[in-house]
Amino acid sequence: MGRGLLDRDGKAYTGARPLLIQGAMKVETSHMVEQLEGVEEYRLGQWYFASGTYKGLPLAIARTQWGLANAAAVTALAMEFFQPVAVINQGTAGAHDPALKNFDIVVGKETVNESAWKSLYRAEGEGIDGRALEKLGVFAYDKEAARFTQEVYHKADEALLAAARSVRDVYTKGRVTEGIIGTADSWNCQVDQVLFLHDFYGSAVEEMEGDAVAQICQTYDIPFLTIRVVSNTVFAGDVDWDLAVGAALQEYVLAVAEAYMRSR
Ligand code: SAH
Repeated sequence: MGRGLLDRDGKAYTGARPLLIQGAMKVETSHMVEQLEGVEEYRLGQWYFASGTYKGLPLAIARTQWGLANAAAVTALAMEFFQPVAVINQGTAGAHDPALKNFDIVVGKETVNESAWKSLYRAEGEGIDGRALEKLGVFAYDKEAARFTQEVYHKADEALLAAARSVRDVYTKGRVTEGIIGTADSWNCQVDQVLFLHDFYGSAVEEMEGDAVAQICQTYDIPFLTIRVVSNTVFAGDVDWDLAVGAALQEYVLAVAEAYMRSR
């Protein structure tokens, strides 16, 4: 397998086409890497990847680091290196929906880039209105139109969503909900701003990678899903994020991965 792309040390991927699971940080990926059998590790550029089998099923894990640019670069590299059958982007997120609590999971029916907007014109001295926005969206390749098209929301793959629904009961540390995942290179701590984004984009949570990965997956025509666990919520006040949620989510994501790979 593979198209001959080698990692930094000249190593090729030789396994079957895997499901690729991504997380930004070590705490968001290491629990899954530890569960792999026959682990191989790779570096593409400065990014870390691992492959192996989980219950006999081929998986690849990618550590994206924070942010849209890293997530997009890692996804494109992984497409060429592993030729994954599908991609799950997962990790921590901040609540936009006041009903969500730490440890609640949001399975992303859609993702949206919340920095892709155009502000409505105001002349000098008229001040700044952060709410006077029009949604812009980002460009991904549309195979029907045979060109890059601008879309605000990117829909999750139905089969991946079905797999996520089929194993909801394995997760007992919080609720498993479905919603829109908002992505931007920002971390919002102002309650009114969070409520505005929740209302304007319909987002349940915010994070920094999901929609960038969706964009690249659509361009490669590979099924995609984002799954996020709430690690912080402004509705609890000015409190720090809870990193313990990362490992809990990975257990659920492995169950989703298994269900998806067995359903193919
Ligand atoms: N709080 C850290 C900042 C970044 S962590 C600090 O102050 O140094 C960013 C990672 O956590 C990203 O991968 C992002 O996807 C995720 N994340 C968790 N909660 C988030 C939130 N409220 N807003 C944005 N990203 C969040």
